[in-house]
Amino acid sequence: MSQEWDAGRLDSDLDGVAFDTLAVRAGQHRSPEGEHGEPLFFTSSYVFRSAADAAARFAGDVPGNVYSRYTNPTVRAFEERIAALEGAEQAVATSSGMSAILASVMALCSAGDHILVSRSVFGATVTLFEKYFKRFGIQVDYVPLTDLAAWERAFKPNTKLLFVESPSNPLAELADIAALAELAHVKAAWLVVDNCFCTPVLQKPLALGADIVIHSATKFIDGQGRCLGGVVAGRAEQMKEVVGFLRTAGPTMSPFNAWVFLKGLETLRLRMQAHCASAQALAQWLEQQPGVSRVYYAGLPSHPQHELAKRQQTGFGAVVSFEVAGGKEAAWRFIDATRLISITANLGDSKTTITHPGTTTHGRLSPEDRAAAGISDSLIRLAIGLEDVVDLQADLARGLAAL
Ligand SMILES: *Cc1c(COP(=O)(O)O)cnc(C)c1O
Repeated sequence: MSQEWDAGRLDSDLDGVAFDTLAVRAGQHRSPEGEHGEPLFFTSSYVFRSAADAAARFAGDVPGNVYSRYTNPTVRAFEERIAALEGAEQAVATSSGMSAILASVMALCSAGDHILVSRSVFGATVTLFEKYFKRFGIQVDYVPLTDLAAWERAFKPNTKLLFVESPSNPLAELADIAALAELAHVKAAWLVVDNCFCTPVLQKPLALGADIVIHSATKFIDGQGRCLGGVVAGRAEQMKEVVGFLRTAGPTMSPFNAWVFLKGLETLRLRMQAHCASAQALAQWLEQQPGVSRVYYAGLPSHPQHELAKRQQTGFGAVVSFEVAGGKEAAWRFIDATRLISITANLGDSKTTITHPGTTTHGRLSPEDRAAAGISDSLIRLAIGLEDVVDLQADLARGLAAL
């Protein structure tokens, strides 16, 4: 990248600058208008200087935009900023988190390939693998996230990808990403990590050895519940295939959404720090309450992977889950007694949310599968937002009083 990005400044001026500077500055290439903010290019296509220029751009001999399914300057700014934050050679934006997963598998796998998936991934991810990829001849097996020996045993000669979400939702279990990456590479497979819950602020999977990182930008990257989007980041070699699939099939990101996400990235670290601080305080407080039988949060010393979390992440995230005494009825009474917190399954928002995973996000699993996943009827999941922590604690106290 030698493109001029600001009057008198080059991309290389960002070499070696800190995360916070990249989050605000990376990917911005100013036009001759001299705009200070990132411009929003609402255009589907681009004009060429001449017939010869059109031919050269279509052939790829001359860099430049051709059509917004291929490239759009606002979307590219978002892609370059994410690549800088994840430490990736290249990133490509998608219309949603799900289309980021779709594009990665479509680009990197073929019929007859085998994929290992961690058992507790996002619900729609399981449906995508089970109902659709299997229909096209891709074999899929599920492995407990934390059991390295089980991953090793599950390999087949045709295993192409390992797909993990860490920390898991809603129980905050962790994969040892460095160990899984090493295992994958010994077996000539690639490790894909859905980094949605941590964001590059708390965890950098590529630096830990993963090959591809995926995000639902809909969650913390936006941070205020406005837009759907996703991103895939990794090495140029694999990204070439992912970009090729997206340009052809079309689930690319709208420039408006890219513009919103660019603004989201500028405050991402500050927001993640605030989410983590409140989540830690509330997890500690919940652990002391008589009505609460267990709290799942990697920031607690009682969490079985607390040490791994300290090593692998720079913070423990916004999601806190806990069990109350008294089963589903008690959990529902707790949820219904809150007044401030939103009853919704969404997360990664400035507004704190509360949900009963057993009857919402994990409601479609059979009771046996739910039990195997460790989702009990008395489990409640919180995704801590940016409200004052004292008010959040008071709202949770209303829930406790209703038990
Ligand atoms: C929400 C989510 C997705 C899907 O993202 P969408 O933007 O809703 O398509 C994938 N993975 C995780 C971990 C999620 O939380």
